[in-house]
Amino acid sequence: MTLLKRLILLSFILTFAFPYQAFAYKVVLDAGHGGSDPGATGVNGLREKDVNWDITQKVRDELVAKGYEVVLTRTDDSYWSLAQRVEFTNTLQADLFVSIHANAHPDGKTKGTMVLYYDNDYPQEDYPASDTMKQLTPYNKDLAQHVLDSLLAAAGTKNLGLIPSAVYVARMGTIPSILVETAFLSQTSDAALLASDSVRSKMAAGIADGIAAYSPPLFTDSLDHWAREAIMRMKK
Ligand SMILES: [Zn+2]
Repeated sequence: MTLLKRLILLSFILTFAFPYQAFAYKVVLDAGHGGSDPGATGVNGLREKDVNWDITQKVRDELVAKGYEVVLTRTDDSYWSLAQRVEFTNTLQADLFVSIHANAHPDGKTKGTMVLYYDNDYPQEDYPASDTMKQLTPYNKDLAQHVLDSLLAAAGTKNLGLIPSAVYVARMGTIPSILVETAFLSQTSDAALLASDSVRSKMAAGIADGIAAYSPPLFTDSLDHWAREAIMRMKK
């Protein structure tokens, strides 16, 4: 049996015999902002960096309980640049990247949940994506949709949909990547949701369930891996 056939057979066996924990998927969770960068400030005084950090820890716990390997970017209330977050992630050979944020809008009325992802159909000339991320568009979008659906179902927030975006952490990496905007700190009822520990737990469970519903492509660490195309076809 050739190595390729062995790999495909192994992939079949693992996928069907152990659908959830077969590959011990490694997930990078990125709590937005931190340290000297508080992010948005809520109408109720909440700081975005604190909300993001709490939800991120809860998502980590949910994923670990599901058998995932989880790596955090910042692990405390410290400042990390966007480039640091992506560079760190690129060293990990992880399977997917999820950045967790809360939103704000100056009108004070906008509320709801959205998920940002890089989409090569909406390129921004001044903010080019990494070559790998350009190829990952369908995976980014698929991951974004699973997480959005699951988060909305768990939290009951308004659906603002998927947003193609050239935000740095979603476009510069080399694995499927999304940025979750849980709810708006600038709007009264959303800010009250974000202030609730039980709602934050529900949001975290929703994000984790969305990640679990998504099956990342194999060999994201090496898009031109010789067996990649064959295995992708097989997975379809
Ligand atoms: Zn933010």
